[in-house]
Amino acid sequence: MSDPAPKRTAFFYDERCLWHSGGMHALMMPVGGWVQPPSGSGHAESPDSKRRIKSLMDASGLSERLAVRSAPAATDDDLLRVHTREYLQRFKAASDAGGGDLGELAPFGKGGYEIARLSAGLAIGAADTVMRGLYRNAYALSRPPGHHCLPDHPMGFCLLANVALAAEAVRAAHHLARIAIVDWDVHHGNGTQAIFYERADVLTLSVHQDRCFPFGYSGEEERGRGAGQGYNYNIPLLAGAGQDSYLYAFERIVVPALDRYRPELILVASGLDANAVDPLARMQLHSETFGAMTRMLMEVADRHCQGRLVAIHEGGYAEAYVPFCGHAIVEQLADEHMGVEDPFLAIFKPQQPGERFNAFQRQLLDELAVAFGLD
Ligand code: ZN
Repeated sequence: MSDPAPKRTAFFYDERCLWHSGGMHALMMPVGGWVQPPSGSGHAESPDSKRRIKSLMDASGLSERLAVRSAPAATDDDLLRVHTREYLQRFKAASDAGGGDLGELAPFGKGGYEIARLSAGLAIGAADTVMRGLYRNAYALSRPPGHHCLPDHPMGFCLLANVALAAEAVRAAHHLARIAIVDWDVHHGNGTQAIFYERADVLTLSVHQDRCFPFGYSGEEERGRGAGQGYNYNIPLLAGAGQDSYLYAFERIVVPALDRYRPELILVASGLDANAVDPLARMQLHSETFGAMTRMLMEVADRHCQGRLVAIHEGGYAEAYVPFCGHAIVEQLADEHMGVEDPFLAIFKPQQPGERFNAFQRQLLDELAVAFGLD
């Protein structure tokens, strides 16, 4: 019997990542004072918002078209490329002692350190296998997420800097001169930005809801420093923006910036929390938008780096809707179409912002493109 055809797309997943828990919360507020105990754990960053992506992929048959894999936990060498030894020691000690919160809104339970290392390992494994040519592209369902985490300070549910760790691991192993990180999580990718702010070998680009998180942050003036000047792009979008604004931001800024940079690998910080019913943001995307943004980045990757595109999961908290968005992304990556109907489209499409909103947001994006020298 001949071998089955090689799979185009890898999906990195591990049940243990779904066992991460920061204890009882209401959305992101610890229970106590006037905050009531919820049903379940109550934390917005729940296992189910991720598990259901895989569940839908299993139900539709998409999983069978992918190489579904796990990966080893990130090693000390991997972690020390980004994080301080002091932070790692402090994190491990607190994790062994039963958990806690060492930063801002970043709780974890006993064993959280090992789970976070595994989450980072999935990201590294996904990037490494694509660089080794085993797959054209990959998705890592990493949990806990990573893009808010700083070298010495966890933040915003993020305990280790997964995307940055993946970039550094493949840069070291495969000697890459130019990696681009596109962050479409609805919140600003502040950790990733800080880690690479003074470097030109990793381009960072964040499309986010203006002033959402970190609270009050926009960031369009922050474009890198020293050798990194001009290699950090922030594209804040007005609360309420929908598909028109996101796709215009991609056409006008994201894609031209990537074409100018000519990346050897594109990493995506793939938060799905710009969806129309997310509890932690105010945007209006739906599954077709996530599919379209994926397609646009795949075309850039085809032009510059043999299609090498690796999406690493970040936020996304609407348990009922996130699966449709994740499924649409992975379908595009794998070039498979399973016939899953997204019934929410009948609601979210008519709810998109009107012409005057879109025209105003486009005008702001045009001004930003000129400021970035992309005119
Ligand atoms: Zn987010």
